Amino acid sequence: NDVSPRRRAPPLQALMARERQRYIDRQPRSMAQARRAAAHLMFGVPLHWMQDWGTPFPLQIDRAEGARVVDLDGHERADFCLGDTGAMFGHAPPAVVSALARQAGRGSTAMLAGEDAAVVGEHLAARFGLPQWQFAMSASDANRYVIRWLRAASGRPKVLVFDGCYHGTVDDVFVDLVDGRPVQRPSLLGQVHDLRLHTVVVPFNDLPALDAALAGGDVACVLAEPALTNVGMVLPAPGYWPAARERIRRAGTALVADETHTLSVGPGGMARAIGLDPDALVVGKAIGAGMPCAAYGFSSEWAERAMRAKLAAPPGHSGIGTTLSGNLLAMAAMRATLETLLTEAVYAPMLARATALAEGLRGLIARHGLPWCVTQLGARCEFQFCPTPPRDGAAAAAAMDPALEALIHLALVNQDVLITPFHNMLLCCPATGDEDVARLLAALDTILAELPRPA
Ligand code: PMP
Repeated sequence: NDVSPRRRAPPLQALMARERQRYIDRQPRSMAQARRAAAHLMFGVPLHWMQDWGTPFPLQIDRAEGARVVDLDGHERADFCLGDTGAMFGHAPPAVVSALARQAGRGSTAMLAGEDAAVVGEHLAARFGLPQWQFAMSASDANRYVIRWLRAASGRPKVLVFDGCYHGTVDDVFVDLVDGRPVQRPSLLGQVHDLRLHTVVVPFNDLPALDAALAGGDVACVLAEPALTNVGMVLPAPGYWPAARERIRRAGTALVADETHTLSVGPGGMARAIGLDPDALVVGKAIGAGMPCAAYGFSSEWAERAMRAKLAAPPGHSGIGTTLSGNLLAMAAMRATLETLLTEAVYAPMLARATALAEGLRGLIARHGLPWCVTQLGARCEFQFCPTPPRDGAAAAAAMDPALEALIHLALVNQDVLITPFHNMLLCCPATGDEDVARLLAALDTILAELPRPA
């Protein structure tokens, strides 16, 4: 029994101080370059989120290949973050690298389409089962545009989302439930409109709440991940989606599946795997294997209604699209990704490794007697600080422990393992090997052995 060593364990702050010093000592070159960057980059990084890793200064990388990231000081880390999904098929996959190199020499952007566009449309229709597609430069933009199209197509003003959701920087959906009431997410900067006027938020896995929200007949679309993946992880309860799908259809509301993260389930995404039959679908991040791009598709019916809305509107700015949307490079990257990476054969080892990882995590958690759980969603695993998988966003959020999370993440970095900041997400790519999984489990084991016993 390992109770007594834990009783003597140092408190979290002491462990954190030790790990911070370890990080500083191991990365002198990163530290120097981070200082240099801080002179002219706000927050010292090109995107302020890059500060959120919890490291004493931002880790500076030299290169990323396959399942590994090499930093400026030469440490090679097993990467389970994979760019928070953008590199789900591994860093620098050769087929995409050569497609990008080939296309870059033939022009990056012309506001005109080449052959790749038609081919990508065919592949997307075949993979995801929706016939009509458009493109954006990020999943955030794709979600924004889908909402706009569907409001225009339906003539309805409202969007419905699930509490705890994240769909990118889509202002409309930054609304949470606090004690059952909708509240604009206080972290959202510079927003002056009351988003609650046109956004309805309900708990996931709650059919009566969904019924009540749809009853007014004013909801254009439900924007949903098939499983919540951004507040820890929340899987749909058995029977939830078939019943919810039916209600959404009956309300004349469009169902949008945001597959940006749930693409981890398989090459057709999670909606396909569970027979969700959405009216629209968004996929970003990994769909271009790291080249910025995203795609969104519609059923024939909704595509028709959206096109009719456009044709009925006066000529001019639609508020949909950006100059580089659907550019030649992005289309080349998506074609190479769809043709060489979104295949059962590529997914097979990712899924096998993630299963081994989930089992390993469960074993470790049990051995340390911790009241935590592990949820697997295809190539993605999440461990959460609660004994059973949460049923909705509120329960998932309540299980979060930022101080503990920060310690675990930093201690993993110090043992040459990266996992996604913000929560405990681990993703396996085709190049993730047994040795990477073993390294992660061994590193986590040493940290868990030192943790103060939970109250
Ligand atoms: N949808 C989902 C489900 C996401 O998790 C994210 C980002 N984490 C996005 C959309 C937005 O992606 P991006 O930041 O690449 O625009």
